[in-house]
Amino acid sequence: MRLLCSNDDGIHAHGLDVLVRAATEIGEVTVVAPDREQSATSHSLTLHHPLRPVRRGERRFQVDGTPTDCVMLAVEVLMPERPDFVLSGINHGQNMGEDVLYSGTVAAAMEGLALGVPSIAVSFAGGDLRADIAKLDEQVEVLVPLLRHLTSLDAFPAHTLLNVNLPPLRADQVKGVRLTRLGRRVYSNSISPMRDPYGRQIYWIGGGEFSWSGAEDSDFQAIHDGYISVTPLHLDLTHRDMLDTADRWWRAP
Ligand code: MN
Repeated sequence: MRLLCSNDDGIHAHGLDVLVRAATEIGEVTVVAPDREQSATSHSLTLHHPLRPVRRGERRFQVDGTPTDCVMLAVEVLMPERPDFVLSGINHGQNMGEDVLYSGTVAAAMEGLALGVPSIAVSFAGGDLRADIAKLDEQVEVLVPLLRHLTSLDAFPAHTLLNVNLPPLRADQVKGVRLTRLGRRVYSNSISPMRDPYGRQIYWIGGGEFSWSGAEDSDFQAIHDGYISVTPLHLDLTHRDMLDTADRWWRAP
């Protein structure tokens, strides 16, 4: 089985190493990853300058682009044969609720899906990575059986990517796996006003606190309860319920 691994934290990120360690147990791994952190770049594509892949080892490339660029280059030109799966991550930090819309980790899996390759995004819901680094390392133990299972399904769901979040626990404390839906998260105080060195007003987006809400079967609840969360996502943003009720609100002009 050919596995393409990418991420949005950059080719030097520890989470990518952990993903590659797990993926190597189940297939032949090719890494194509950004040369620097690209978190929250979502599904952006580089159109206005060329991309330069640099070989960093056997089946290992860094690219001066986004996660989407990496997956597109890998599938279209860098890999001699198409991958059977795209694996993205392990992101340093959770990707649940609305975060999937900002996430470069999830976008790399979306690009795989857009290219017709079944794809799985993996994120580690730890906060301070320095404190949780041992727990991140131990995720290999839970990831190998999970990836082995997901990549050997008779019918991997069509037109679907799987968004996996791992709880910030030691491997032997993980309670199991739950199939979930996206919850909602609310950030507060995530814009910090400050001054630049010349005294001008600037703002820095990031940090702050967040709270979440969601049903019993939400991704946040699963992580809160100590389970691995697996959320099936699709790219079709059409609001189907709204279409179904169109006769109540839509009047053709
Ligand atoms: Mn990231």
